Amino acid sequence: MNRKPLVAGNWKMNMTVADARHLVSQMVPGLQSKSGVDKVICPPHTALLAVSSLLEGTDISLGAQNLFWEPSGAFTGEISPAMVAEFCDYVILGHSERRAYFGETDKDVNRKVQAAFAHDLTPIVCIGETLEEYEADRTYDVVFRQAKLGLDGIQFAGQESDGSNLVIAYEPIWCIGTGRAATPTDANEVIANVIRPALGELFGNEIAQRIRVLYGGSVTGDNARDFFQQPEIDGALVGGASLKVADYTQITLAAVQ
Ligand code: PEP
Repeated sequence: MNRKPLVAGNWKMNMTVADARHLVSQMVPGLQSKSGVDKVICPPHTALLAVSSLLEGTDISLGAQNLFWEPSGAFTGEISPAMVAEFCDYVILGHSERRAYFGETDKDVNRKVQAAFAHDLTPIVCIGETLEEYEADRTYDVVFRQAKLGLDGIQFAGQESDGSNLVIAYEPIWCIGTGRAATPTDANEVIANVIRPALGELFGNEIAQRIRVLYGGSVTGDNARDFFQQPEIDGALVGGASLKVADYTQITLAAVQ
């Protein structure tokens, strides 16, 4: 199956507007000429407007790091799907930091995915096991459950029905920001044996084969290519290295080489 690779940078809670402008202006020249890979930058909400104007006329897309599922109202501090859709094509949902620090459940992730779809946003849905679960050999159970619950009831009707508007990021939590990446073959096996079959149960095999599944967790310019060589890994969700121009450019290049 020929899935177009995708590399997304999750800036997390970093970059003021001034910092964001500086970083993007340094990054765009190296990224924008790279064809054959979808490129997404996900700054914090406060920098979306500034970054969206800098990305105008480029082939680099903008993503948010979260949204709330309600359309409007008394939800202090939250951002609605329509607000995100004013600027973005993508949105990261269910990141492990949101699950761990803000109590997001699979049900919450599911509501957010539904809301993203209703606003023609492409969700990048994060799933992955903790170190404890990994050491207890529970990776397959945990990842399967997160995929099934997070995507329960999602309909492709009315959207591009080929699955390309849904992206999954397999991110073992013990690899995020730790400098300890999973081995490419282990990550590939989790996708092949658990994530792709869960997607098949949910959407049928044809669509499941078209949904892109990224790897995330301590991806760098040096190790990216080893991940991208795996048949089931369709790109990367990158945290720390997405703030470093040379590293991030190298990761993006590795997706097409
Ligand atoms: C992430 O935050 O999704 C992530 C993968 O972070 P890092 O690349 O820093 O491990």
